[in-house]
Amino acid sequence: MPVFCGNVPHNFVFMQDKQCTLKKRVSVKGAGLHTRQCGTLTFNPAPINSGIRFRRIDIETQPIIEADVDNVIDTARGTTLGKGGVKIYTVEHVLAALRGMGIDNVLIDIDVEETPIMDGSAKFFVEAIHQAGIVEQNAPRNYLVIEEPISYKNEVLGIELKIEPADSFQIDVKVKYNTRVLDEQHASLHDLKNFESEIAPCRTFVFLHELETLISRNLIKGGDLTNAIVFVNRNVSSEELDHIAAFFKKPKVTVKECGILNNVELYFENEPARHKLLDVIGDLTLVGRPILGKVTAVKPGHFSNTSFARKIKHTLLY
Ligand SMILES: [Zn+2]
Repeated sequence: MPVFCGNVPHNFVFMQDKQCTLKKRVSVKGAGLHTRQCGTLTFNPAPINSGIRFRRIDIETQPIIEADVDNVIDTARGTTLGKGGVKIYTVEHVLAALRGMGIDNVLIDIDVEETPIMDGSAKFFVEAIHQAGIVEQNAPRNYLVIEEPISYKNEVLGIELKIEPADSFQIDVKVKYNTRVLDEQHASLHDLKNFESEIAPCRTFVFLHELETLISRNLIKGGDLTNAIVFVNRNVSSEELDHIAAFFKKPKVTVKECGILNNVELYFENEPARHKLLDVIGDLTLVGRPILGKVTAVKPGHFSNTSFARKIKHTLLY
């Protein structure tokens, strides 16, 4: 029988699924987006009730950092975990892949400070999980059941996240950027079975002006033009485009009619909203247990997602 927090709603259908881990270890190699550090991330099978944990194997003591919202130390350009002075940057896409594929217990070895960005999505982590295989463990999945709505709001920024009771994990996301090339978009996931095909391939995105700021501050060393969709929300001169092309060591870049740089093709018209949904899944994984509830997120970002995750955890688990 699953372990529930508090009373189970009388009409709730018991989920009988079991905890899962990987059949064998599997690795993903690549460079981090912000640190440019090239490293190897390895998913290892882990025992029941051990949860999702990172281990920095490049450090002699091999410190472990639990994927727990109380270990979040920064959310400026991604979600960073830290403990005892040891950090791991950009954990959200890895965590989304694990939650989306139903992995409860895994020890993630990493030999640098940042996870590989790959193409800016969760696709490569999902493929690695498939390659390793998923195995059920002899223990019920430890769901966190939402019985009363919980919400987080930032009225100044128009951000709102809430979660309500539901018998599965569901998410609706709305983003709004008030720009010519990217305004309001919606994305939904009402069954985690569709995570792999509908959400996992959706890549991160950036506006050109943000990219220029990141480049000038030396904050996007690892990003090349295959790591992100770049939205161009103002007129840019051919000199500026040449400058960007030179930075990324490309012969030429142009702006397509839909307002994105020609480095990539969109997989879905609402790929940005789908990626924000992916980030919400990754950040909410930091609650530490799989949630049963329906999430509605308006203008989510890593700071609000992790603040919301902290509120859920501390409302229900303490
Ligand atoms: Zn992301």
